[in-house]
Amino acid sequence: MECSWKFSHYRECLAAAHSLGYQFTTFSNYPSRYRKKKLIILRHDIDFSVPRALEFAKIERDLGIEAVYFVRLHSPAYNPFEYKTYLALKEILGMGHELGLHFEVFDFQAATGEDLVDIFRREKGALENILGIPVVSAAQHGDYTRVGPDYSRHFFTQVKPEQVGIKYQTFDDRFFRHMKYISDSSGHWREGCMCQHIGHHDRLQILTHPCWWFHKHYHVE
Ligand SMILES: [Zn+2]
Ligand SMILES: [Zn+2]
Repeated sequence: MECSWKFSHYRECLAAAHSLGYQFTTFSNYPSRYRKKKLIILRHDIDFSVPRALEFAKIERDLGIEAVYFVRLHSPAYNPFEYKTYLALKEILGMGHELGLHFEVFDFQAATGEDLVDIFRREKGALENILGIPVVSAAQHGDYTRVGPDYSRHFFTQVKPEQVGIKYQTFDDRFFRHMKYISDSSGHWREGCMCQHIGHHDRLQILTHPCWWFHKHYHVE
């Protein structure tokens, strides 16, 4: 298996996990799956590209795997209520995947001077209204205004999830400290490709950003 950012490698990684006996879960299905010994949460933060998110979703569907997609409201690259984007998000949902909120309250507060909790509630409400579904899970976007290394300032260290109608947040100890967490942030697997972790940890939260992945080449498709 040769590591790359190709969707074909992603498929290989999942197939390998499958054959090693891992189970997969969304956040909302976690309460019914948490006893499984080998468990993977596949998380995708859609920062820029919904079409590439759809590619991930199709691979997972083909393998009978469920994953979670976090949708951004402030992306300069897409609008979830634009016709094709909306239909792609609905298609992802229709495949049995979960859609959650990729919130970015610190940047928006810095830009607007508005209240953090109020911004969060409005982001959540907007996404629920656009998609016509309840949103129960949330993941923080890597804000420009974030101070210091990862998560030195995280919304859910300041606000309880239930206070803003969220049941599952990705930074929760259950998913972050008690699982091996790996991420391809900035197009770089800091701790090595996901294929190097599958089989070495029983429980993983694997975060990928669809914008870095492609079929042939980054600039094409
Ligand atoms: Zn690899
Ligand atoms: Zn993000």
